[in-house]
Amino acid sequence: MHAQLRPGRGELAHLDRVSVDRSFHGILRSLDAIGAAGAALALIRERLPEQERETAVFDAAVRFLEALDEDAPAEEALLSLQVRVLTMLGFAPTLDRCVGCGKVPSPGKAASFDAPRGGIVCRACGGGRLVLSARALRRWMMLQSTTELPKEPWPELERQQIHDALDQLDAYHATVSVRERTAAASGRWESRTS
Ligand SMILES: [Zn+2]
Repeated sequence: MHAQLRPGRGELAHLDRVSVDRSFHGILRSLDAIGAAGAALALIRERLPEQERETAVFDAAVRFLEALDEDAPAEEALLSLQVRVLTMLGFAPTLDRCVGCGKVPSPGKAASFDAPRGGIVCRACGGGRLVLSARALRRWMMLQSTTELPKEPWPELERQQIHDALDQLDAYHATVSVRERTAAASGRWESRTS
């Protein structure tokens, strides 16, 4: 879809023209796919700074819709997109070593994960609330470095662990951005009143 926008007043823009280059009818065949598409668009709306061009994120979103259209497993595709968007925006968690001391986890061992600290944390550094199995860690690191979307479902435990860790990251980033917005708003307020 192409949309032509003209800057308007404040955060609103005039929509000049919209043309549909490609539609994704296949998504409408599955409720899971419809849900995943909605969640992805909400995620991108939340994450992206307003009025900034993020071509890479837009391309990733289009590839994601194409994958859903072609019957990719919906939840796996959505989780992969979430990982991709975090990586592209510079919020990829550290998964190959402890964020505290840099210790590399033993191969084949699970690690604990802590979103506020930005990745995996070894026991000596306090650990984290969530566990990522060795397979989940490997899967996530692979997702950070590829634009491919999954064609097959993942084992349940892997999917659940990646889902929970992404949720924790999401909740953490949401609090941080609310705090930043509040700080920015109170800064504006102070400069108005001083
Ligand atoms: Zn450590």
